[in-house]
Amino acid sequence: MRFDILRLPLVGRLLRWRRGRLALQLPLALAALLLVLDGFTGPQQASRNLATVAPWVHFRGVVVLALLLAGNLVCMSCPFTLPRTLAKRWSGGGRRFPRRLRNKWLAIASLFLLFVAYEALDLWASPLLTAWLIIAYFVASFVLELLFSESAFCKYVCPLGTFNFVYSTASPTQIGVRSPDLCRTCVGRECVNGSYRPAPLVRLDAIPGGQRAVKHGPDGTLGCGTLLFPPQMTGNLDCTLCLDCARACPHDNVGLFVRQPGRELFQPEAWPKRWDVSLLVIILAFMGLTNAFGMVPPVYDLQRALAQMLGIRSDWVLIGLIFLVGGVLLPIGLALLAGWLAQTFTAARHPYDLRQTVAAFAPAFVPLGFGIWIAHYSFHFLIAPLTIIPVIQEFLGQPGDWLKFSGTPDLTAIGLLQLLALLAGFLGSLLLANRAAARLYRRQAMPGLLPWALLLLALAFAAAIVFSLPMEMRGSVLFD
Ligand code: SF4
Ligand code: SF4
Repeated sequence: MRFDILRLPLVGRLLRWRRGRLALQLPLALAALLLVLDGFTGPQQASRNLATVAPWVHFRGVVVLALLLAGNLVCMSCPFTLPRTLAKRWSGGGRRFPRRLRNKWLAIASLFLLFVAYEALDLWASPLLTAWLIIAYFVASFVLELLFSESAFCKYVCPLGTFNFVYSTASPTQIGVRSPDLCRTCVGRECVNGSYRPAPLVRLDAIPGGQRAVKHGPDGTLGCGTLLFPPQMTGNLDCTLCLDCARACPHDNVGLFVRQPGRELFQPEAWPKRWDVSLLVIILAFMGLTNAFGMVPPVYDLQRALAQMLGIRSDWVLIGLIFLVGGVLLPIGLALLAGWLAQTFTAARHPYDLRQTVAAFAPAFVPLGFGIWIAHYSFHFLIAPLTIIPVIQEFLGQPGDWLKFSGTPDLTAIGLLQLLALLAGFLGSLLLANRAAARLYRRQAMPGLLPWALLLLALAFAAAIVFSLPMEMRGSVLFD
């Protein structure tokens, strides 16, 4: 029997409670407010300001840890969607997001922009700019909720949400239904439609065991913001874990189930065979490498060489160029090449075109990509795990006890942990690629696997080299 977290006595009740998400969002909204306040009024020194230390040093470590051990807890408690209900009520329903934009291309563009801005503007070193970034997040989320019927910001734009969507596919929890039979006779489908309406309405559901009136009115609950339908969900992609579906279902049929971590990575039917989704997964893995490369000494040599060669002076253009090539064009080019080589090596024996081939191998980039991000973010988190304490002390007007709380654990141990994350990610990726090759090419699995295995090996090797170089300890007193 599947273990359902929503059935737990206290936690389950809290999560299903009508104001459950609000209860999780309010502390983070308050924290965001304090970050903005400190960003505008506090010391403009990266290691001594909440606006820089909390998001760029600690929060990112928490994000990957939560995804690895539990699920998309960050989107679940995301304060940026706090005004969602308000926006929905003001909007009067709104219209759907433009059809042409209902894909992941915008999300890829916003990820790219965020990474370039992070480096070009030194966001990690600027409390003021980070405060503005937090405000921009709130405004963008609210405006898109106001204009469109679905949660367009979360589903199509938000770079952090996109990161969480991709790597929550490796998480050990997933939304599902307790009884699929019940859903077949459900009339209102409130899990996706919601029960909120400006005017009251009563619906009768032909649920076995007697008809049941379901009230839809101003006190009702919103349905799934990203338009997922729990009885048909095969994975975590696009799920913000907001649990609105569980609160809206009048038959208490939605659960949050514990599953084998990364189960959907082994299920081809859980992955849309779309270029945008496949390339997003591959690009995100390479972005992890490019992002880490931006913090080791050779990046400055590369910038100088590019500046001399191309006569470029602007940091934006130079950094944009490095991220465009390393984080976007290279992964796209290599994925197409690997797909084409796999097709060529197994020629005339299979009916899969290039799009289907790349889609089949794209999930294999999740474990290695996740391993690269874990190695990177855990480094920043672990070099100064307790410095948030003196920063809070100083924010509260007291002297910060830096001597006591700015100790760094053994760097060799951190290095080993990084190596372990990379190795585990690479082995997981290889296993998935092997499964995909066996499924697609059967007896010709080996030649079909070869180009993808080499690509994964090259990515893992490049990441190991980057992490073996001295990385900037940004946001810590050691780097001021
Ligand atoms: S999950 Fe609930 S609301 Fe959704 S279809 Fe099933 S019974 Fe209906
Ligand atoms: S399926 Fe939709 S409503 Fe349910 S938790 Fe996921 S995003 Fe929220």
